[in-house]
Amino acid sequence: MSSISINDPRHAANGKEFMGHPAGLYILFLVELWERFSYYGMRALLTLFLAAPLLDINPGFGWDKSSTYAFYGWYTMLVYLASIPGGILADKFIGQKKAVMIGGLLLCAGHLILAVNAPWAFFLGIALIVLGVGGLKANISTMVGGLYKQGDDRRDKGFYLFYIGINVGGFLGPLLAGWMAYKYGWHWGFGLAGIGMILGQIVFMWGQKFLVGVGDVPIKSSKENHQEGDASLGELFSNLLKSKVQLMITLALSLVSVFMAYSYASGIETHAFAALGIFLSLVIGLMMMIYRDVDAIEKDRFVVLLLSFLIVIVFWGAFEQAGGLMNLYAKTNTNRMIDWLNFEVPAAWFQSINSFFIITLGTSIAAFWVWWKNRGNEYSSIYKMAIGVIIMGLGFSFMAIASVEFTNNGSSAMIWLVLAYLFHTIGELCASPVALSFITKVAPIKYVSIMMGVYFAATGLGNKVAGLVGEFSVKAGELEIFIGLIVFTAVFGGLVLLLLKPLKRLTHGAEDAQLEA
Ligand code: GLN
Repeated sequence: MSSISINDPRHAANGKEFMGHPAGLYILFLVELWERFSYYGMRALLTLFLAAPLLDINPGFGWDKSSTYAFYGWYTMLVYLASIPGGILADKFIGQKKAVMIGGLLLCAGHLILAVNAPWAFFLGIALIVLGVGGLKANISTMVGGLYKQGDDRRDKGFYLFYIGINVGGFLGPLLAGWMAYKYGWHWGFGLAGIGMILGQIVFMWGQKFLVGVGDVPIKSSKENHQEGDASLGELFSNLLKSKVQLMITLALSLVSVFMAYSYASGIETHAFAALGIFLSLVIGLMMMIYRDVDAIEKDRFVVLLLSFLIVIVFWGAFEQAGGLMNLYAKTNTNRMIDWLNFEVPAAWFQSINSFFIITLGTSIAAFWVWWKNRGNEYSSIYKMAIGVIIMGLGFSFMAIASVEFTNNGSSAMIWLVLAYLFHTIGELCASPVALSFITKVAPIKYVSIMMGVYFAATGLGNKVAGLVGEFSVKAGELEIFIGLIVFTAVFGGLVLLLLKPLKRLTHGAEDAQLEA
């Protein structure tokens, strides 16, 4: 959540260029590559480790599947929710560069502590990683934008390269950490993720000379520091406290969610659900304040934006089965033996497939949409997001085939997982890149930064939904869940497509205007 916009001309690059881009881009590319190497390397091992029996040759925590998926959901949700305080810290107090520096140090510490084989080390490591990703992830993206002057058309290309960096890390992390964990034990894998993060931190410290003037400490804490009319979360919050109706609704929603948490959840999760309920009620309160504050056209666009966040939650809620349900599925139900090599593929390696397809298919999918648009077809962001949800959901049909094969033969073939991840990636490439630019097109101008933060929160919620769906699969059965996901995403995506015309009308040509500009 950045109140200093990436468009802020004060964040111009410092002049040094390399291969047509500011030299700082390559520094940020490498830092994010290593950060994602550690994040996805560790994430690939997480559920496998939690569910591994205590008496295994490579022992884990021996948790049942429900607890494993629940923890996976909380952890992956919190890393993204932590972007909100991380963004506020950077924007209001220390600037993005220092926030990334601190986030990186926390990540080095967190990942290395995970290398210690003790329960206290595990939970401390996890907490440090949540704080570290919160400091680093959103702020480093803001810094990428800050490398380019306002109106510099190389910015999109810069972000594209940066996204490739993310996925090179996402590809190598599970492969190498997965191999270490498979060969020598979980904590060696966690440790390797930590070494990756140390490399990223060294690059960031060494590369400071290429980042002069980017992501610096905010000059003043007054309103002048914002872009013209840019609103802060603090102002929005104090306005909420003054508005009787909205405040009452927020409090009522909080009370209901706390009541529900204490009635239906159990154990330590009860408090976590209650806190999540209060947090979400507050977000709803703040959204009502934004709605109240903007003009009629902006109101309409804002409604569409909030609906698109629903698509984001559904998308990630299904997609993020990857590190949970599908990860354990690879481990326990899949025949991972390559007979002619006499080699068993480590389960964690399947976590690299998504990034591999992103790198190899990214340009073709982007080119497809340009071709599609030039033929006069529908190309709005909402359309692409809905199509993305449906294609991603179709990927679960391969998981359904795998489940049937498992029931019949006692194991299923690896190809089903590969095909499922292929469809998931095509869906991601349709839905995810357009979401961020859509926010910049339809959010009320002075609330763009806040809505970016809410977007991250929405992806975080999607991760929690994914964990809950995983938990539900333990009771409902995996085949039933896979079929349920296909049907739900198809119906949901279809519904969005049916509503496309009225939804587009509500955007009042925001996307067309951007294209002409
Ligand atoms: N895979 C991308 C990344 O790690 C997107 C993740 C997300 O938006 N939840 O940055």
